Amino acid sequence: MAPEVLVVEDEPDIQALIVHHLTRDGFRCRTAADGAEALARLRSGVPDLVVLDLMLPGMDGLELTRRMRAEPAWAGLPIIMLTAKADEVDRIVGLELGADDYVAKPFSPKELMARVRAVLRRARPADDARAISGGGVVLDPARHRVTVAGVPSELTAKEFYLLHALMAAAGRVLTREVLLNRVWGYAHADTIESRTVDVHVRRLRAKLGAAGRRIATVKSVGYRFESE
Ligand code: CA
Repeated sequence: MAPEVLVVEDEPDIQALIVHHLTRDGFRCRTAADGAEALARLRSGVPDLVVLDLMLPGMDGLELTRRMRAEPAWAGLPIIMLTAKADEVDRIVGLELGADDYVAKPFSPKELMARVRAVLRRARPADDARAISGGGVVLDPARHRVTVAGVPSELTAKEFYLLHALMAAAGRVLTREVLLNRVWGYAHADTIESRTVDVHVRRLRAKLGAAGRRIATVKSVGYRFESE
């Protein structure tokens, strides 16, 4: 499915311009004109990227970024900040707060689209169609196929995506919230949903046989795939 971008911009002309270029490049778009509306959109579904104007009525872009970073389900969400301020401090603060990139207004749509693609490429290694291997496990996204020591493994779609997310981040811990977001698309994780992850990891490990131990439990945090 095409990546979805949430465009948070209060100026209707600029919002329409951004949406126009994004849809023309094949992205799906949702829009919000202020921070409160943006939070409501995020609660109804996590997009792949947020294009966020710094200057918004009420809650500004920095405050919204802060709130997003404080929510586990949104913490890893890529943000491109739009700023009309030439002020370097605002730019740096934006990046320190966790915006992934910024584009200074007035911007060329071509530049913004290039940033959008670059940030998505960095943020979504799991969408890469190249096969990943580690610890005797080979996962081929293009063929939707997993082999362990050369023997095909019969995984459900969820187990496949779960393994893909873990292998793409090999060596790094992924929290249950991140996995729920990436694999299940949940915006918010509660205790029951966190257990869903545990249940799927248990089944996945069993199906991987001896290679199942490659999926390490990191106590009270989440899971990590260990290639070595
Ligand atoms: Ca504005």
